[in-house]
Amino acid sequence: MNRTKIEYLDYTWNPICIRCDRVSEGCLNCWHLTRAAMLANNPMIKKEERAVYKGGEFLLRQEELDAPQHVKKPARIGVQFMGDLFHEDVDTHWIDDILEVIGACPQHTFLMLTKRPENIERKLYEVTEAHGCRELGGNDYLPNLWLGVTCENQTRAEERIPILLSILAEKHFVSVEPMLGPVHLDKWLLKEADLIDWVIAGPETGPKARPCFCYWMMDLLSECREAGIPFFDKREDYLIREWPR
Ligand code: SF4
Repeated sequence: MNRTKIEYLDYTWNPICIRCDRVSEGCLNCWHLTRAAMLANNPMIKKEERAVYKGGEFLLRQEELDAPQHVKKPARIGVQFMGDLFHEDVDTHWIDDILEVIGACPQHTFLMLTKRPENIERKLYEVTEAHGCRELGGNDYLPNLWLGVTCENQTRAEERIPILLSILAEKHFVSVEPMLGPVHLDKWLLKEADLIDWVIAGPETGPKARPCFCYWMMDLLSECREAGIPFFDKREDYLIREWPR
């Protein structure tokens, strides 16, 4: 588990070695894939992990699994921000192992963020013949686990947010990053309906960053303000950084 520069987290925890696949426009300049391509030929990395980065089967890092349990001070921890935890090839048993650790660490808040919300329900909660002993499901969920989706544009917001909101969680959050166009969330921000709990937004970064206009951010901030929903501006020269209560 590593300290992170992601402004709204204290740590990132990557218990699975993944090489992800692009699913939408926001993935075009994915830093994880750039890093995976570099690590694939790095002799300092374990042979088995290099094989994953070359396109082999994903691996559970047993040695990394209980890392949050060694941190006593309450922290915000991003789960598998290197890749996508809800990628089709992530073994559901590994997700059970991760949930067990989350349940054993009530002092921490864990955030799962995905571009594949259609897989969340099945991978987190579904009871099947192969997974007959899932700890969660029905009306049960972990109070220290927040679920989020990335919506880089309005099309992805329309696709992903309704799925996210149909799944039980302590908090639902939306990350509009990289923001590739104007995104309006007002219909999911109505306070009475208690829908989205938190909005994060920011531009793409890096040498190939695509434009993000200031007024897109300002419009989204205004919608959050009107609905009383906390907003986290990820820009370096940020205007406002709020967390859900
Ligand atoms: S889903 Fe995330 S990790 Fe996977 S390719 Fe897209 S941006 Fe990269």
